[in-house]
Amino acid sequence: MKVKMRINGQEAGVAGGLDHLVLDQLKRSMQEKVAGLTCPEHTMAAAIEVNGESLSGLKVEIQACCDAMRKRVAKALA
Ligand SMILES: [Zn+2]
Repeated sequence: MKVKMRINGQEAGVAGGLDHLVLDQLKRSMQEKVAGLTCPEHTMAAAIEVNGESLSGLKVEIQACCDAMRKRVAKALA
């Protein structure tokens, strides 16, 4: 499972500092939640993209092979 983080259009992890630590933790916990999750029908893993202008306004986007898989990932993250 891939988790991508973008803050203000920039790949997180470049800037460093506190934001980077918080995002890194968030990324890790998301990766743990969805680890090993693959679609039983298409045997594909989903990709998660986190976008936002700041830490308080993050949007999570799930890219999956089908709707059932997307729902499964969303449930795992909730
Ligand atoms: Zn699928």
